[in-house]
Amino acid sequence: MRGTVVIIMRSAVALAFMGMFTMIQTGSALAWNGMGHEVVAAIAEKHLTATGRLWVGELLSAEGKTSIVEVARWADRIRDLKVGVQPSHLVRLPLDEREYDPAKQCKNHRCIIGAIDESVAALNDPALPTEAKVAALKYIVHLVGDIHQPLHASEDPGVFKVIFKGKEMTFHDVWDSAFIRSRKMSVHDIADMVDDFERGNAPAGGSTVSWAIESRNLARDVLLRDLGAQRATAMLVLPDDYLERHWPAVRLRLEQAGLRLASLLNGIRMR
Ligand SMILES: [Zn+2]
Repeated sequence: MRGTVVIIMRSAVALAFMGMFTMIQTGSALAWNGMGHEVVAAIAEKHLTATGRLWVGELLSAEGKTSIVEVARWADRIRDLKVGVQPSHLVRLPLDEREYDPAKQCKNHRCIIGAIDESVAALNDPALPTEAKVAALKYIVHLVGDIHQPLHASEDPGVFKVIFKGKEMTFHDVWDSAFIRSRKMSVHDIADMVDDFERGNAPAGGSTVSWAIESRNLARDVLLRDLGAQRATAMLVLPDDYLERHWPAVRLRLEQAGLRLASLLNGIRMR
C-alpha cells in the first residue's frame, strides 16, 4: 500500500517537475463514480486498434497492469491524496450564449480541456520518460470520461441538494453515481450493453472543446431545464422514473466517451 502511494506521488511530482500540469484541483469529489470511468475504459478497449493496444499494453506493463479499466479510477484516487499538483477534472462553461473563452475558463490550462490536451501532448513527446507517460495515459483514460459528464462542463455543476427515492443527495451525485449503480450489472456487461446499443449511432470525433460544449449544452438544455420551476422550491424531489427517463442520455455519453478515448489513444504516435 505504502509503495503504491509512493509511486503515485512520484508520478504527480514528475509531471509537475516537467511543467505538464500546473493546475490545482479545487472541486470536491465530483466525477462519474469509479464504475462509470471503468465502463468508459472498457468501451474504449473494445475499439483500440492493434497498434493502440500494443503501446497501451507496453505502458501499462510498467505497473504490472494489462487493461486501461484497471487505471480508470486512479486520477480520483490521487486527487483525494491531495499531493498538491493536480489537473482539473472540470471546466465551468457559461450557461448563456457566451462562447468558450480559454483565457477565462481555462486560464493557464487550468481546466479539464487543458489537462486532456496536455496529456495527449505528453504521450506524443518521445523525450518523456515512461513513468510520466504512464501517468499521462492514466489521466487521459479518466478525464475523457469526466468531460462527457454534463455537469463537469457546466457553470452550474449541480451541487444543490435533491431528494431521490427518499434519500438526500446532490444533483451532481445523482448524475455521477445513481445511473450506473442502478443497472446492477458488471462493468463489462454495462460496456457491452451500451456499445451494442449505441455503436454506429453515437456521433464520435470532435475536439476536447466541442466535447465540453456538448456536455454544457446537455446540462443546460436537459438536466437543469428539466428541473424547471422546482429549482425555486426549498428542496427538489426527483420523480421515481428519473433514471429511466434520462438513461438514454447517459448511455450516449458513455459510448461517446469510450469511442473518443479509443480514438485519442489510437492516434498517439509512440516511438
Ligand atoms: Zn474525475
